Amino acid sequence: MLLCANWKMNLSAKEAAEFINTYARSLVPSSVPTVILAPFTAIPAVAEAVKTSALPRERLAFGAQNLYFESFGAFTGEVSATMLLELGCQYAVCGHSERRQIFGETDEIVGKKVIRCVETGLTPIFCIGETLDERKAGNVEIVLKRQLDVGLSRLTEDQFSKLVVAYEPVWAIGTGVVATPEQAQDAHHFIRHRLKAMCGETAKRIHVLYGGSVNPQNVESLMGQPDIDGALVGGASLKVDSLLALHSGCSKVNTAKLKR
Ligand code: PEP
Repeated sequence: MLLCANWKMNLSAKEAAEFINTYARSLVPSSVPTVILAPFTAIPAVAEAVKTSALPRERLAFGAQNLYFESFGAFTGEVSATMLLELGCQYAVCGHSERRQIFGETDEIVGKKVIRCVETGLTPIFCIGETLDERKAGNVEIVLKRQLDVGLSRLTEDQFSKLVVAYEPVWAIGTGVVATPEQAQDAHHFIRHRLKAMCGETAKRIHVLYGGSVNPQNVESLMGQPDIDGALVGGASLKVDSLLALHSGCSKVNTAKLKR
């Protein structure tokens, strides 16, 4: 299981360092890693604070919320995978719905970002999910299939093992309207099935995260679902106590799942 904190455009470098210092001091041992996805400007401060904490990367890792798929060149305002690796990032979010909707990222663009991550050694957190209109029209599986097929079309079977997928129904992101555990499980089951068709048994090893209004109250019921392997959390990851509570919920469910 994996707990990913998507800070979006929040926390200055100073605030991020203070956050990590406090979080790392209170984090109880567990096999659930926390991954902090910080704004670009806060990544060096996060890297320094993680180093100072002396926690291993298996417990506290970090990454970026976006990247560009080219290696270098005339792409004003963009940041490459190697630039992120140089800062110590292990992860990068690809195709968050805010990037798709506000910044016009297509499935093709997201697919180029995913392969760039994998080829350079970053773990892509590949986000997919339907809008409310698509759900109401009964098109959830059609949308997820298209996003998976196009977004992952460049990966070889082996490269699938380097992937994290996040199912984030757009209508649940930042709205306080969370998917029911059953709705989330149905989508995750479909995603797992589709991944299996694409990469065979490797699909079992891919973490498929749920994101969309996860909070300390609902995290256990969502994480308890068989095909949900972690959470991608926005709003509820911005306060130390809340992220610690999410981590504790994930750890509890993970321990129970491992005993099964
Ligand atoms: C997100 O930003 O990926 C997200 C799921 O946000 P929130 O938890 O605030 O819904």
